[in-house]
Amino acid sequence: SKLVVSFGEMLIDFVPTVAGVSLAEAPAFVKAPGGAPANVAIAVARLGGGAAFVGKLGDDEFGRMLAAILRDNGVDDGGVVFDAGARTALAFVTLRADGEREFMFYRNPSADMLLTDAELNVELIKRAAVFHYGSISLIAEPCRSAHLRAMEIAKEAGALLSYDPNLREALWPSREEARTQILSIWDQADIVKVSEVELEFLTGIDSVEDDVVMKLWRPTMKLLLVTLGDQGCKYYARDFHGAVPSYKVQQVDTTGAGDAFVGALLQKIVQDPSSLQDQKRLEAAIKFANACGAITTTKKGAIPSLPSEAEVLQLMESA
Ligand code: ATP
Repeated sequence: SKLVVSFGEMLIDFVPTVAGVSLAEAPAFVKAPGGAPANVAIAVARLGGGAAFVGKLGDDEFGRMLAAILRDNGVDDGGVVFDAGARTALAFVTLRADGEREFMFYRNPSADMLLTDAELNVELIKRAAVFHYGSISLIAEPCRSAHLRAMEIAKEAGALLSYDPNLREALWPSREEARTQILSIWDQADIVKVSEVELEFLTGIDSVEDDVVMKLWRPTMKLLLVTLGDQGCKYYARDFHGAVPSYKVQQVDTTGAGDAFVGALLQKIVQDPSSLQDQKRLEAAIKFANACGAITTTKKGAIPSLPSEAEVLQLMESA
């Protein structure tokens, strides 16, 4: 099977209609469906790949809306369950003056945190060629145990494991706890993607030099990636490493760029797993992923700006 199964949270971001204001000053908010693992699944599907999402939503209008968004985008929602007692997670987002985003979450607890291992769609997870996840689903039980069990099921069934920690400091009890828990499953992933900020958070060193990145390398890994925004990314495989620049675009909103990058790369790896061992083909896959990430920054929101394969190829050809 050529399926990417993505595990974790799907939620609604409430984004101010005007940029650069505080939550209190915002005159109004628009709904922006998100959650990194859900974005990755939709990114894969938009590129024409097989994708499924596993997670829990509130049995409320927002939860039903999010499940419909998955289906409308061609993502298998057979792994979605609904919690009768808890709400779909919400996050209010502000764009700071320096361009970074700030989050205020409503999770007390939200439905995504309440997924249990008994609720996992085991048959769906077993069909994964790639099983992808983040770290937000590690923060609280019972979801944490469900997450660990799902990884185990996927691995036993022969899937590649893909990990994008997607650090959200505000959700953890402390920075130390975040670091410890994020790294607690580090050795199990075949593919790991971090941002520059996450590299610094995890290593304590503000540098993207090879010797710093290598602190996050494990012999069990097949591929480690560090995304660098408009600078593209650096990649490290068993027998080779390098950097791939991105494409020049008019950046409007970076939300979802990392997820688009991951979705595109996983889609390429699912199509041709041997590209993990071939530097030329891996670089071609990463170029495609960079282009996909770049396009996602040219429009507001994550999901509306995820490109089709034709749009990605068009940017690559015009460059
Ligand atoms: P997110 O904002 O989703 O958390 P991230 O920090 O995980 O993103 P980024 O490094 O911002 O990831 O972006 C992922 C990839 O998208 C980059 O490696 C790059 O290829 C591409 N990209 C992002 N921003 C730009 C840009 N302004 N111009 C060109 N390419 C970009």
